[in-house]
Amino acid sequence: MNNTFDVMVLGLGAAGSSALYHLSKTGKRVCGIDQFEPPHAQGSSHGQSRITRQAYHEDPLYVPFIKKAYELWDEVEKNSGKQLFLKTGGLMLGSPDAGVIKGAELSARTHDIPYEYLSNHEISKRFPALKPNKDTVGVLEKNAGILFPEECVKVHLELATANGAKIHTSEKVLAVTAGTDMVEVVTGNATYSANKAIISTGAWISEFLPDLNLPLSVERQVLYWFKTNNVHQADIFAPQNLPVYIWEYAPKKMFYGFPDLGDGIKVAHHHVGEPTTPHTLNRNISDEEVEAMQDVVKEYFNLKPEFNYGAVCMYTNTPDERFVIDYHPAHKNIIIASPCTGHGFKFASITGKLLSQLALDSKPELNIDIFSVNRFL
Ligand SMILES: Cc1cc2nc3c(=O)[nH]c(=O)nc-3n(C[C@H](O)[C@H](O)[C@H](O)COP(=O)(O)OP(=O)(O)OC[C@H]3O[C@@H](n4cnc5c(N)ncnc54)[C@H](O)[C@@H]3O)c2cc1C
Repeated sequence: MNNTFDVMVLGLGAAGSSALYHLSKTGKRVCGIDQFEPPHAQGSSHGQSRITRQAYHEDPLYVPFIKKAYELWDEVEKNSGKQLFLKTGGLMLGSPDAGVIKGAELSARTHDIPYEYLSNHEISKRFPALKPNKDTVGVLEKNAGILFPEECVKVHLELATANGAKIHTSEKVLAVTAGTDMVEVVTGNATYSANKAIISTGAWISEFLPDLNLPLSVERQVLYWFKTNNVHQADIFAPQNLPVYIWEYAPKKMFYGFPDLGDGIKVAHHHVGEPTTPHTLNRNISDEEVEAMQDVVKEYFNLKPEFNYGAVCMYTNTPDERFVIDYHPAHKNIIIASPCTGHGFKFASITGKLLSQLALDSKPELNIDIFSVNRFL
């Protein structure tokens, strides 16, 4: 077996699977490795659904990336014939001064994204599943919706394989050593060499970059599904009647969620999880956690919540919540991808393309200075 490649992609989650797909289109010899069988439920890219939206409340700087990401998801849908995206619209909810409201409006105005500003009465009338209080307003964006994360990873890997990429799963990378010209990758099964390696190992990434001591922290996140079949009009929770939403119920405190895709409505807090590591992650969900989320659902939805099931996932956070997409500062043949901080999935289609451009020494098609590793050194 020839173990020499132009580019190796280590970690085949959201970012790595997309990078492998884009590399595979160039005709280069490429290989992807993962310790599990992606898509899997051990990292950050599982749980049925991810929000995608363009009126980016976090910062208008993300909008060119998300517009490109939409185009690329569309391309992958067409190339695969699989549905990866469901348009439901997206609703930012909060007081008129809330960051999600002001920020979404700013991005929408800056980048000409159509949106509607809704009063609490309009919210209740149009989305009867929701119970906004009198101070709540909404910014509604038509083109937001849901990406299906497991299917996205699967399709990227299938298309990459069809283009000739080699994929090794259930194979753990144990060491990566950058030489002057080549990178050596040692796994439990073999030793490989490549001109370039992309390290996209999600919550495990710090283990590959001990010399950099990056300020990345891993955070436990719990997702909850509540049944809707005990409601008289269950269709108020259906995707045609309930958009994806992010609700800033107190300054910088948010929960978010999805309409009922068959298992009930999915809801989760954004950023209230305990610090963890992939090796110590508590995958059990306590009764207290379920009860606390049940109270949130009771307060904000017209639903008597009945817990269906939950899932545990990991955010890999940077202090400024921006991603890291860059060359290793000491080794130009290693590319670092840490595109999470709880909002990276929607970008994965363009992230993978940018990573492939870095690996092939082409100029990235968008300016990625905001994701530079140097900001932490
Ligand atoms: C609960 C939750 C909700 C989220 N909601 C949203 C949302 O609504 N919208 C949004 O845009 N984003 C959201 N995100 C963020 C998004 O899901 C992440 O940005 C994205 O999944 C990160 O992908 P990744 O490729 O960096 O990591 P992963 O998908 O975890 O991939 C890393 C891969 O590396 C592999 N790996 C690690 N170590 C090794 C090794 N030694 N050898 C071989 N392989 C290895 C792992 O097995 C894994 O497959 C959410 C994240 C979470 C956790």
